[in-house]
Amino acid sequence: MDLEVVTIGDELLLGQVNDTNAPAISAAMAALGLRIVRHSTVGDTGEEISAAVSEAFERVNLVITTGGLGPTRDDITKNVVAELMGADLELDSGYLSELELRFAALGRSPMPASNRSQALMPRGAEIIPNPRGSAPGIWLTRGEKQVILLPGVPHEMRGILSEELVPLMADRFCTQNQPVTRTRTLRTASFGESALADHLERFEHDLPPLTLAYLPNSGGVDLRLTASAMDAAKAEELLGTAAANLEQELGENFYGREKTDIAEVVVDLLRGKGKTVAVAESCTGGILGGRITAIPGSSDVFLGGVIAYADSVKEGLLCVNQSDLRTFGAVSSQVAEAMAKGVAERFDAGVGVGVTGVAGPGGGSDGKPVGTVYISVWYGKEHRTGAYRFPGKRAWIRIRSAQEALNQIRLAVS
Ligand code: ATP
Repeated sequence: MDLEVVTIGDELLLGQVNDTNAPAISAAMAALGLRIVRHSTVGDTGEEISAAVSEAFERVNLVITTGGLGPTRDDITKNVVAELMGADLELDSGYLSELELRFAALGRSPMPASNRSQALMPRGAEIIPNPRGSAPGIWLTRGEKQVILLPGVPHEMRGILSEELVPLMADRFCTQNQPVTRTRTLRTASFGESALADHLERFEHDLPPLTLAYLPNSGGVDLRLTASAMDAAKAEELLGTAAANLEQELGENFYGREKTDIAEVVVDLLRGKGKTVAVAESCTGGILGGRITAIPGSSDVFLGGVIAYADSVKEGLLCVNQSDLRTFGAVSSQVAEAMAKGVAERFDAGVGVGVTGVAGPGGGSDGKPVGTVYISVWYGKEHRTGAYRFPGKRAWIRIRSAQEALNQIRLAVS
């Protein structure tokens, strides 16, 4: 079965919002073995929506749209598509009562009049429940043409997609042994993209029919294995073997699967070892502490931190030697080490981390250009210290520094 995706919203065309819905739908549909023929994006006007859906129907029999299902006047997708399909809108009293109950449960009774319009459904449409919002998904069939309307809000859309739509579509469109596309992602730290490619040359040589994609991001390089056009059992078997081999090839550079956050890995590791951590941050200005405390349950292991930006704070709060600051400079391995040890002692933590660097755009020198960062982890009465040169602008350098600090904690503790 071929399908097209139409995402709707002026903000997508204006570049104010990145379209995350079309890729999410495509990935889910490809995994079911359906073929995505085209993505298109249109504004919020009736003419554009109608034209996009009817043009898509010239190529395929199934169209999925997102956006424009809310209760306000500018949310017109349902009306436009119902008209296109020749389906009158009628009040769905069951859905109206459900909406009224939901609003009452939130203490918002009576329900705003504008929300009543959300209980108007194209005749013959199937409602796809959306527990996260007031606009459900709508599946409308006319002859061989089918259109599925989903809300635009990304977390609502993703919820409906994975919990409702994928199982429904698997039931209706997928037969056993139908070719599917499946992927596995392995996350790596430390290695750059080309060093990784060199390291994996032999592995890649033996990989077909699977393929490998290198996906660099602020966290490192993700490696995505893909099995295409084969039955699901075969795809899973090949991917399982290849992923296990790849993990071995990567050794300690592999830190997690799919969307694993390295901060979560670090928190789990520290908890497992019964260790606590404290951080001393200069150039990252709190990003490292922020990453750790974003993980639920991090209070088991995270004691606190010092944003030691000024030399006086490094000296006064972390006991960094004035002579080290003068001799080696605030951005140096000696100072990173003193910060790591100082913060561990201050907080009585098992692990101390020091990060100091030149995030730019000013402040660089020949010996220490912008992007120079020293990271030290004090653990078990030893330092693990590294010097790095991160490319890019200030924001990127700060993010990369925090990510590498997390990686260094992981390596020190594991
Ligand atoms: P609502 O009930 O909020 O009105 P809706 O179905 O009408 O839902 P929209 O109003 O089109 O959806 O969009 C709601 C929010 O979701 C907006 O912030 C919009 O920018 C965002 N959004 C819409 N489409 C996409 C998309 N394709 N990718 C990412 N974000 C999107």
